[in-house]
Amino acid sequence: MHYLDHNATSPIRPESLSAVTHALGVGGNPSSIHANGRAARALVEDARERVAALAGARGEHVIFTSGATESNNLALFGAVEGSLEGEDSKNSGRITRIFVSAIEHSSVLATADRLAERFAGVRVARLPVTADGVLDLEALRVALREGKGRALVAVMAANNEIGTVQPIADVSKLVREAGALLLVDGVPAAGKTRLDFSLCDYMTLSAHKIGGPQGVGALLVRASSHESSAPLAPQLVGGGQQKGMRAGCENLSGIAGFAAAAHALEDGEGERARIAHQRDHFEAALKAAAPETLFFGSGADRLCSTSGFALPGLAAETALIGLDLDGVMMSSGSTCSSGKVSVSHVLAAMGVEEKLAACALRASFGWSSTMDDVNAAVASLLKLRERVRANQTSEAA
Ligand code: PMP
Repeated sequence: MHYLDHNATSPIRPESLSAVTHALGVGGNPSSIHANGRAARALVEDARERVAALAGARGEHVIFTSGATESNNLALFGAVEGSLEGEDSKNSGRITRIFVSAIEHSSVLATADRLAERFAGVRVARLPVTADGVLDLEALRVALREGKGRALVAVMAANNEIGTVQPIADVSKLVREAGALLLVDGVPAAGKTRLDFSLCDYMTLSAHKIGGPQGVGALLVRASSHESSAPLAPQLVGGGQQKGMRAGCENLSGIAGFAAAAHALEDGEGERARIAHQRDHFEAALKAAAPETLFFGSGADRLCSTSGFALPGLAAETALIGLDLDGVMMSSGSTCSSGKVSVSHVLAAMGVEEKLAACALRASFGWSSTMDDVNAAVASLLKLRERVRANQTSEAA
């Protein structure tokens, strides 16, 4: 089998799996003061440091969640509610304007829309991207200048469908100048490129995209008393865990597995170089044999792990079935919305025409992918392309 769908889920790393198994055996609640409780607490606190290191942050910034979807919900709802409650005494000001890039993950887009429905006075606007899938900075500059009230901006570090790296340093500068707040979804970029938490106020991470288990993630929040704090109202209340910011007994085994995956990436240069080589070889081989292949966002800086592409005429659904029969696993469009037959909002925002977008596929590479996977994927795609061509010829005849 050839797994090239790491942006959907990266298979669990062996070191993460053993950390999960070990943690399941600890048998203590991190809030208990007895020996097993203390062992569980030590595991969680150690994990905070490891996960924070993914973005150059500190353990105190980390709130563990059930995944990046929850983290994005917590950041957006928490920031708006927190700003209403005036909890951020240092940076006071109600958030009334939310700007999200048009290529954000649905957990950002849908949450922002929900906020606008729930809170009178909160407006949401989607910021355009270039034809290469990169945020239009000028549009952000203009948006921040218009209107009253504090703004919250959400821009992902890199896109999950086509891998384009977003200009976070420039976004951060504009956001800071405007006294606004910045949420960066770091999910696909984590471990693939440098994430810098110091540029933003909130950052989203997910374990299962870096070889950790599913169902665990983190929100990094600038909330230390030494720094200007970002507003955040908890969305899960109860036992007061995680400094009252996310109640509920911590997912000990998930958190341990997350930390082990993050730790494996601390020395990730070799892995990144290998992945980049595989992705580049995949694209070069495909392009050489099928020159009509289009690679989305290829004019921009992209993550080493991701290739969003289309072979015009080969419908994505047909391709996925054919690839699967050859043991090759890939995605079409955004994974989280697969099952729905709709054109990717990312490609639509880039102005890709519908007919071409219907052929969009994504190969994503990770820690376990090999050149054998790359070669199998290319061979299968070329076979499918030949079949389409043969059909077209027989139809024409
Ligand atoms: N943000 C991005 C950019 C993603 O790719 C994903 C997962 N597809 C998420 C958020 C949601 O992550 P999770 O599965 O951990 O909820």
